[in-house]
Amino acid sequence: MDGTSRLHVDGDRLWSRLMAMAEVGATAAGGSNRQALSDDDADGRALFVEWATSIGCTLATDAVGNLFARREGTDPDRSPVVLGSHLDTQPTGGRFDGVYGVLGGLEVLSTLAEHGVVTAAPLEVAVWTNEEGSRFPLSMMGSAVWAEASDLDEVRALADVDGVSVGAELDRLGWSGDLPLGRELAAYLELHIEQGPVLEASGSEVGVVVGVQGFRWLTVTLTGDPAHAGPTPMDLRHDPARPLAEVLDGLYRIAAERGPWARATPAQFRSEPVSPNTVPATIRFSVDIRHPEADVLDGMDAELRALVAEAAERHGCGWEIAVDNDSPPVAFDPACVEAVAAATAATGRSHERIVSGAGHDACYVASRGPAAMVFVPCLDGLSHNEAESIEPGQATVGAEVLLHAALSLAG
Ligand SMILES: [Zn+2]
Repeated sequence: MDGTSRLHVDGDRLWSRLMAMAEVGATAAGGSNRQALSDDDADGRALFVEWATSIGCTLATDAVGNLFARREGTDPDRSPVVLGSHLDTQPTGGRFDGVYGVLGGLEVLSTLAEHGVVTAAPLEVAVWTNEEGSRFPLSMMGSAVWAEASDLDEVRALADVDGVSVGAELDRLGWSGDLPLGRELAAYLELHIEQGPVLEASGSEVGVVVGVQGFRWLTVTLTGDPAHAGPTPMDLRHDPARPLAEVLDGLYRIAAERGPWARATPAQFRSEPVSPNTVPATIRFSVDIRHPEADVLDGMDAELRALVAEAAERHGCGWEIAVDNDSPPVAFDPACVEAVAAATAATGRSHERIVSGAGHDACYVASRGPAAMVFVPCLDGLSHNEAESIEPGQATVGAEVLLHAALSLAG
């Protein structure tokens, strides 16, 4: 056992910072409203900068305003191990989504500073810009630009509902810095609340996140012949609601046959014409399918297409499927995942391997370098909600795992 294995984070400091950050843009119902690139977002960052500066970190931003607080290591040739997440929130956001990963990372650096421990590799805390995508319509925007998956100029042109652009806000706030995009990172770890009910249901204290579900959004259009609901006998209709019923039934079977990680969500049902006494000409609806494995997701897609075609043709209807969004699954770096698993085991906490159902900045970072995530359970799996809640003890456990995983990766 070396000296660092006995290090502990300061749970009270972490919790008081989480509560202080929640007061920036606080909402009446106990949540936070710090939408990306707003004055409240800037005030939240100012608080983070104050805390990071107090432990001797240097701060820098890149062209899209991603902010990095850096604590040097002993080996100047090593790339940084980066811990982070985001400080922006939904309009009626909670106190922990994103914030926990940033302040958990800062708690790791604060603990090391307090105990005079210097790692070999530099350690950084990242605050990614506009993860939420609520004010400007691109979620994980900062990490997407960083990973060169989105174009900086296109992102700068994105506007909010009042017509204010990302570029104008970056310039106004002075957030556009010269740190290079897509720098080499030794590893990236993101601590986050689960935002779902799995850990709470199983009683695990920590989720070792092995990857992120892929998802695909499809729009299905079924076409029939409009006809009067009274005089037209049932067997003489081309009614798109008939294949719809079969497709919905089959869709749930497609998910059920593929185990606990498959998801299928039909929604946004619209029929034309909007009339109670006319057989619809068209029925259009969305289908969101998800799975952590690309080939299984492709299989779900293919089976859905066959199902729609057969059902439509059986009832004399036309059909069409459009792909609106395709986000491939992410498998995290095995060495980073093992570092998290080992750190969890070392802290004596119960844990399980889990797949994230939501997207995170770690997805884009993982496209450029080794990354993984740590989850802690949240009350009732609730997130994107002002009532989002975790206990102080749960916050401490996750930060402790992050500390030991970071130490093992940074040396
Ligand atoms: Zn988040």
